[in-house]
Amino acid sequence: MACLELEGLTKVFPGGIVAVRDLCLSVAEGEFLVLLGPSGCGKTTTLRLVAGLERPTSGGVRLAGRDALRLRPNQRDVAMVFARGALYPHWSVYQNLACGARLRQRSGWWRLLAGAAGNADGSDDVDTQVRAVAKQLGLTELLKRRPGELSDGQRQRVALGRAMVRRPSVYLMDEPLTGLDAPLRQELRSELREWHKTTGATVLYVTHDQTEALLLGDRIAVMNHGEVQQIGSAGEIYERPRNRFVAGFIGSPPMNFWEGELSRDSGDHWTFSRGDWRLRLAGLTVLRATAEPQAPHTRAVMAVRPEHLSPCDGCGSLEGSVKEAGVADELLRIDGVVRRTESAGDLKLVYLEPPAAGADAAPGSASQTINETLLVRWHGAEVPSIGELIHVTAKKSDLHFFDAVSGLNLALPENG
Ligand code: ATP
Repeated sequence: MACLELEGLTKVFPGGIVAVRDLCLSVAEGEFLVLLGPSGCGKTTTLRLVAGLERPTSGGVRLAGRDALRLRPNQRDVAMVFARGALYPHWSVYQNLACGARLRQRSGWWRLLAGAAGNADGSDDVDTQVRAVAKQLGLTELLKRRPGELSDGQRQRVALGRAMVRRPSVYLMDEPLTGLDAPLRQELRSELREWHKTTGATVLYVTHDQTEALLLGDRIAVMNHGEVQQIGSAGEIYERPRNRFVAGFIGSPPMNFWEGELSRDSGDHWTFSRGDWRLRLAGLTVLRATAEPQAPHTRAVMAVRPEHLSPCDGCGSLEGSVKEAGVADELLRIDGVVRRTESAGDLKLVYLEPPAAGADAAPGSASQTINETLLVRWHGAEVPSIGELIHVTAKKSDLHFFDAVSGLNLALPENG
């Protein structure tokens, strides 16, 4: 059953700023759904609309089947965790953890809804919950301390723990790990995952960090300009990005894109061309281009991820023309000169540029047609030297094609 449903939610702030536009999504009970997108895309506003801290301009919010817009924020049975969540400075860690649960237990509305049992004041329940959560988050030794006596990471754990103790219908988490150093972030991330696995909590989680989103989310809703661009599992979003924005936003380092034309030769045989550069593709599913059968070709963008380009040792030497892209054994081959390399641990990046790029290149020649820098995630032991001419290949099944105007993935159905 959907625990949370957003139905065509729109929020326009004064001055006509559209923060959220016609947003539809549902979060199933026990699901961890991540809202991922760049700064300003409407993630926090969405959470605030669910929490009742903002009124939508139009659309609806349903919590456990109830119309949440009829409920005040404190009646919605949601717990919000913010980046650098505020704590009560004069209370101990124990009291901070316990306060959420105590507030909830005093609420007659909640007792009615949940049929909460236990002692008249609920104190035993609260104590058990607080100690269990403290143990899970490694806070047991710190229960008597005050927030001023904690590190940033410990304070962040208390803020998370306070929400966990509450056991609401839905947790709303707004970048709760922001500002923590990388090891601590990693540690809290795996604790969050573990906590979610054991409790089956329903979580709507906001982040602009794709690694966090891919590691935490059962599903990820990628947002841009107030709209959901795609909802799916990490694998779906990475392997079948619905549009060019999602393709470019997911994956690090980012995808390589080339704009050109896609024309049908016959059946499922297509040619992608860019100036003199041609790539023949057999067995390519292009659903969207067929919507315009009269059009001789479609303006399209071809894309490939840097990690899907491999050095091609057995490609043989190049003669004369130093820039070419060919088709062999279902491989796309691209040749280029190493312009720049970067290494950080096992991450090695190689930037290639067309060998003949520059003032001397003949107009319309292959070297002019693919004139962007090509980024390769290098899997070999040694990165090549600057100035070296190398060959890289990609499997054709790793190529993506997008409509140059709408940005939609040409191989996916309209609602794919
Ligand atoms: P970030 O990751 O930077 O926190 P976000 O994705 O959470 O960004 P929101 O905070 O939801 O984005 O903001 C969405 C848009 O709405 C932005 O353009 C922002 O400037 C605007 N906005 C947010 N709150 C208000 C407000 N109270 N009044 C006017 N505009 C606002």
